[in-house]
Amino acid sequence: MVKRLRIALVALAGVAVAAALYFVLAPLLGAQTQLSRYKASFFDVFDTYSEIIIYSADEASAQAELDRAHAELTAYHQLFDIYNDYEGLNNLKTVNDNAGVAPVKVDERILALVAFAKDMYARTDGRMNIALGSVLAIWHAHRTAGIDDPANATLPDMAELTAAAQHTDIASVVVDEAAGTLYLSDPEARLDVGAVAKGYAVERVAQDMIARGVSSAILSIGGNVRTIGTRGDGSSWRVNVQNPDLQATVQSIATLDLQDLSLVTSGSYQRYYTVDGKQYHHIIDPDTLMPAAFTWAVSVVTQDSGLADALSTALYTLSIEDGKALLENFPGVEALWVTLDGTLVRTDGFSTLAREEEAG
Ligand code: AMP
Ligand code: MG
Repeated sequence: MVKRLRIALVALAGVAVAAALYFVLAPLLGAQTQLSRYKASFFDVFDTYSEIIIYSADEASAQAELDRAHAELTAYHQLFDIYNDYEGLNNLKTVNDNAGVAPVKVDERILALVAFAKDMYARTDGRMNIALGSVLAIWHAHRTAGIDDPANATLPDMAELTAAAQHTDIASVVVDEAAGTLYLSDPEARLDVGAVAKGYAVERVAQDMIARGVSSAILSIGGNVRTIGTRGDGSSWRVNVQNPDLQATVQSIATLDLQDLSLVTSGSYQRYYTVDGKQYHHIIDPDTLMPAAFTWAVSVVTQDSGLADALSTALYTLSIEDGKALLENFPGVEALWVTLDGTLVRTDGFSTLAREEEAG
């Protein structure tokens, strides 16, 4: 009897030792598990080309994550859309259509985006203003018409722009958290979240992926890049910064090593039209109401993709000197500017991210 008990105890101790060994060794063995690469690409969110890559040991869960990320991005795209209606959905177009009419009950994700964007308005001294929609709508109409019919492309009338600029007060964007509503109190005001929506959505989707245990991924939504962890082999994600000179033979001006960081670029080469041989791009200086004319492109690297997106647009509307001063208030944010003549200018910390760079 005693002997049997002793054998049982020895067996139990054996199990305990094995279990302890398992818990100590499993993470080490796990680190050597072969991770495979899973990729999805699509064109149907934020009117751009998107790519998501996940490294995972489990194909089914990786595929489920890719599907889920796509579904979430689609939802954000529809909620933040100012041009299209969707059956049964109150989105930002609904809010614009009800300016001066009535507060609109909206999804919590819209309220969160607007709260973030209002905060960024304050933190960028109004350079990034989602209430600039009335002015941006005029530029948008001229640009789309000019792209469709280049021979008859026209510039907006300055008197019209100045009149529209009277309706860009961020205070007219009224968020009622308790009621869950968003309201434009100025009937002529319009929202345009083009400067922040994509980066904000990408950050939310990345955070959801991280919360569900994804530890190795990259989301590139129209060039708005967010990395999670490292690649499958433990090395950093390597991401190129696009050369704004689309005619140049070299397409990249820098290759960055990114881990848990975002890279977002604003530049005149991304969206523009031509009037009388001169290009007019899509980022508007709130002071002049004309396309910002300080730099060719600016790239921002920081963890939060929404912050990177908001700041890239704000920096694009500032001189490099003023941009550097603004970034004093944003620890953990690095930037690379391309001047109008193609010279590269970096924040001090930017160079540590760069693996290789072309001369300016
Ligand atoms: P991004 O490419 O992120 O710099 O955003 C550019 C888009 O933001 C434009 O297409 C407009 O929809 C919008 N936008 C342009 N200028 C401004 C501005 N000064 N503040 C806020 N949004 C702007
Ligand atoms: Mg932006």
